[in-house]
Amino acid sequence: EVKKNGKNGHQFYSVELYAVLQERMELEADLRKALERKELVLYYQPQIRTGDVHMVGVEALVRWNHPVRGLLSPDVFISLAEETGLIMELGNQVLYEACRQMHEWHQAGGPLVPVAVNLSSQQFHQPNLVEQIKQILSETGLSPQYLELEITESMMMDAKLSFDILNQLTEHGIRISLDDFGTGYSSFSYLKMFPIHKVKIDRSFIQDLAVNSNDKAIVSTIITMARQLNMDVIAEGIETRAQLDILAEQDCNEVQGYFYSRPLSAIDVEQQFFVPSRAGAELIEQHRG
Ligand code: C2E
Ligand code: MG
Ligand code: MG
Ligand code: MG
Repeated sequence: EVKKNGKNGHQFYSVELYAVLQERMELEADLRKALERKELVLYYQPQIRTGDVHMVGVEALVRWNHPVRGLLSPDVFISLAEETGLIMELGNQVLYEACRQMHEWHQAGGPLVPVAVNLSSQQFHQPNLVEQIKQILSETGLSPQYLELEITESMMMDAKLSFDILNQLTEHGIRISLDDFGTGYSSFSYLKMFPIHKVKIDRSFIQDLAVNSNDKAIVSTIITMARQLNMDVIAEGIETRAQLDILAEQDCNEVQGYFYSRPLSAIDVEQQFFVPSRAGAELIEQHRG
């Protein structure tokens, strides 16, 4: 219901605005239910090492399996979750499921690679973040070295606070990756002080990499900087062979993008990226008689 400002207050609201508000409130109510009913699902996008084309990690990307609207992308609901505070519960469910799934894969003989999970700013700044993550790790059995947290430059504006949080996380063995790098406020002097393992070059610099010499210069500079600071570097949003060739030539060790794979359901990751184990192969042989 729309609040009215005095007697004729309702006249300030156009029909269209009312419809937008209505839709938003419905989506918020739906999201609340979705969190209770566990309608969120994780897709996983492989991260590929350029040298040998092995999958060296996956990024967990949340989707909402909406009963009426189908599979919704995070663009539709992450900002709503942030504005309504539901992001805390959402973030916890994502962290739990990503750790649970990766531990299950490890147990089943899948590749011993980490899972990267995106953190929202509110999550990053919640006072008991470190305790909550430790608890999720111990409940799911995943060891901390296989969890990578993706944060963005904008979350590090309060240098002292973020430095403390990052230190606690990395002292526990968790990896930190700087997402969408280059799009925010990047202070190179911060970067060298912070415990960061990996820099993710934002897709906006990759898109025209093969035709735009400015982008090529920026990408090359980020790669060199990461190397000098002893960080891993990964490029996001690789769609073409031309982009890949330039990145490999510039010594970018990892890439992630549609060129190798879109984000996949857990089952599709297993089918497309797990090398069948010898035991598994023998079982299949036996079964065939
Ligand atoms: P991000 O963390 O930068 O994730 C990369 C996005 O780029 C993903 O979109 C992915 O599907 C897309 N992408 C990957 N390769 C390519 C490519 O080659 N071409 C193009 N055009 N796109 C590519 P997605 O899954 O829609 O996620 C969008 C954003 O939503 C993410 O950007 C992240 O900021 C946020 N997000 C996703 N999952 C979560 C989550 O669990 N928690 C939070 N807080 N945010 C999330
Ligand atoms: Mg990310
Ligand atoms: Mg990103
Ligand atoms: Mg991005």
